[in-house]
Amino acid sequence: MTGKREKSKVKKCPLCCGEMYDGITAIPFLIGEKVAVIKDVPSEICSDCNEAYMKSSVVGKVESVLDRLEELHSEISIVHYEVA
Ligand SMILES: [Zn+2]
Repeated sequence: MTGKREKSKVKKCPLCCGEMYDGITAIPFLIGEKVAVIKDVPSEICSDCNEAYMKSSVVGKVESVLDRLEELHSEISIVHYEVA
């Protein structure tokens, strides 16, 4: 029958099936021997286990940031997503 409303926007955590909410998080990356931390990355975060997942819309920008950091000589880089 009709009248059923889809709960389309609720995403489930792949680890624990908890509900995901929009937030920001800091994500560490390993580039070869270097470490890069990108802060304030828009993410979906699990309300149960706190696992954070990058939104697909930010992956491209994060990758270009990592490409740039790879050319630097510093072993540890910490950048903000918004200004990166
Ligand atoms: Zn979870």
